[in-house]
Amino acid sequence: MTDIIIIGSGPAGLTAAIYARRAMLSALVVEKDYMGTGQISVTDRVENYPGLYGLSGYELGEKFREQAETLGAEFYEGEVESLEQADGVWHVKFKLGGEKTAKAVVYAAGTSYRHLGVKGEDKQRISFCAVCDGFFYKDKTVAVIGGGDTALGDALYLSKLAKTVYLVHRRDEFRANKSLQKKVDDTENIVKIMSAQLKEITGGANAEGIVYEQAGEEKSLALDGIFCAVGSVPNTQLLEGVCKLEGGYAAAGEDCVTSAAGLFAAGDVRTTPLRQVVTAAADGANAAASAEKYISDNF
Ligand SMILES: Cc1cc2nc3c(=O)[nH]c(=O)nc-3n(C[C@H](O)[C@H](O)[C@H](O)COP(=O)(O)OP(=O)(O)OC[C@H]3O[C@@H](n4cnc5c(N)ncnc54)[C@H](O)[C@@H]3O)c2cc1C
Repeated sequence: MTDIIIIGSGPAGLTAAIYARRAMLSALVVEKDYMGTGQISVTDRVENYPGLYGLSGYELGEKFREQAETLGAEFYEGEVESLEQADGVWHVKFKLGGEKTAKAVVYAAGTSYRHLGVKGEDKQRISFCAVCDGFFYKDKTVAVIGGGDTALGDALYLSKLAKTVYLVHRRDEFRANKSLQKKVDDTENIVKIMSAQLKEITGGANAEGIVYEQAGEEKSLALDGIFCAVGSVPNTQLLEGVCKLEGGYAAAGEDCVTSAAGLFAAGDVRTTPLRQVVTAAADGANAAASAEKYISDNF
């Protein structure tokens, strides 16, 4: 039996693995994506993680993973289907069969992209990743839907490739940080469409445009590509009935202690005011420290 199973190898999970190994605990990191390092891996450039300025998200994730591996964390590729505690031992079961057991679990499964929920969305090809798919839209016309940091970051990234980037937002102001807003304002080929309620994605096999409502008027826009950046939803389905959730997130304080004994929630899945790499890493450290205390008190 492993001391700690860590579910998810994003910044939170990998930091938990680093801290668990430094505390001389055995740590098994389970991850559904091949060599995955979480959401940050698709980010073009990370400018706000201290000490590693300007690395791509992929490079930053690789550094985290390499450090965890160097310190002796073990890795297992597989999608977790369920987790439950029996007689004080956590059983983590995988979708493709098999299970692993541990004294404690750090749940660091992050979040997934939120969908637009409008007509035509399922049938058409929409991208959730500007860095992954932007290349296909060189000199084309695209739209980014959303108004947060991700949407504005995507629009800026795409502005270097596409001819025109429409930034379509349902409110009259962006939620994104001021520095991104200034960069967007200074970029000539980004056109803002504010207070626009998206109604439909049009087209055949590929998206050909959008229909939206603005000031009571229905309008349409011809496009070559659509990028969806309307936020995320926590990957906490597996925690339903296992620990307390709040607004869909795993309810836990800064110590990452959940309502279930021996289960610790870290990173974007946790009830936390800020979801970033630096806060996910901090959570990973706190979760491992709390797990270490739990193990020494109970085993
Ligand atoms: C486009 C974009 C740009 C961003 N830019 C920045 C930035 O510049 N700076 C910054 O600080 N933050 C940025 N962020 C936010 C940052 O990426 C997240 O806050 C951070 O990755 C959260 O880390 P995490 O470890 O909690 O979760 P995640 O990174 O989401 O990792 C969770 C991991 O769990 C795995 N997983 C999920 N479910 C299961 C399961 N059932 N079984 C096994 N594995 C599972 C996933 O595959 C994933 O690898 C950005 C996010 C996005 C999407």
